[in-house]
Amino acid sequence: MPHHTASVSRPFCVSHGKRFRLRDIDPRSTGAIKSKARAAARLEKGVARLSALQEKLYAQDRWALLLIFQAMDAAGKDGAIKHVMSGINPQGCQVYSFKAPSSEELDHDFLWRTTRRLPERGRIGIFNRSYYEEVLVVRVHPELLARERMPEALVTKHVWTERFEDINALETYLGRNGVMVRKFFLHVSRAAQRERFLSRLDEPQKNWKFSTADVREREHWDAYMAAYEDMIRHTASAHAPWHVVPADHKWFARLVVADAIVAALESLDLRFPEVSADKRKDLAEARAALESE
Ligand code: ATP
Ligand code: MG
Repeated sequence: MPHHTASVSRPFCVSHGKRFRLRDIDPRSTGAIKSKARAAARLEKGVARLSALQEKLYAQDRWALLLIFQAMDAAGKDGAIKHVMSGINPQGCQVYSFKAPSSEELDHDFLWRTTRRLPERGRIGIFNRSYYEEVLVVRVHPELLARERMPEALVTKHVWTERFEDINALETYLGRNGVMVRKFFLHVSRAAQRERFLSRLDEPQKNWKFSTADVREREHWDAYMAAYEDMIRHTASAHAPWHVVPADHKWFARLVVADAIVAALESLDLRFPEVSADKRKDLAEARAALESE
């Protein structure tokens, strides 16, 4: 069923990356949404719709949906995942957070650890960070690449382009196998990140979230933004688009994410499995038996 209101997410969906420029998307944007209250009402509807769609996805057991979240620290990945998925049946959803790789993971090719966590048919899989870290943090800090134990002859100046190719090949493969991929970059401004770090220091209940390492990463802001832009240019596609989500207003970011997921699921032919004539007969007999007890 198409939306009766204009899509909130479409203006932020990048499906052809070639001419993409990060500076064209303002992290402070709230699109056409005028107030937080209006956004909350729409988010509630989106979450309900998502819940109904997930039920069909699960019952039909053909498609899988992979949602990838990437962002700078404090951009609101965790909150977006929590709010958007609040109406989802936990049995049909798998969330994985990918941190700095373990020594076992470093001993494998770079797509190994995430491939093991791909969602089954009928499920929604969420990657909180993903193989995209391999062209982000690893690109900003080349010493991390050195730890990956690749044969020296294979690490050339083409390494990032080659990783983009490998990622694109993986995502094409997934699409052809019924795993729909949707990618979200929560685009927060450097100023908003600063405010959020300060509130993590100011508010005792938020202290646990504060990490001095995050403040150090912030010094590489421009290098990260360049890496994000290049990544989106090379890996946005019609079958696995990037959503560059303005994230200075968390309430808007959540709405964009929910809207994009609903649109993705609505584009599939989700149906409850059909009941065959034989099965209908069984059902009628079961009813008769129960009624005559
Ligand atoms: P939080 O909101 O709790 O900080 P987080 O996702 O930032 O959540 P962290 O415990 O800070 O979680 O760990 C994530 C860190 O691991 C990030 O700095 C990220 O860049 C790094 N990381 C993830 N994947 C890789 C990778 N493949 N290679 C190197 N570092 C990675
Ligand atoms: Mg962190």
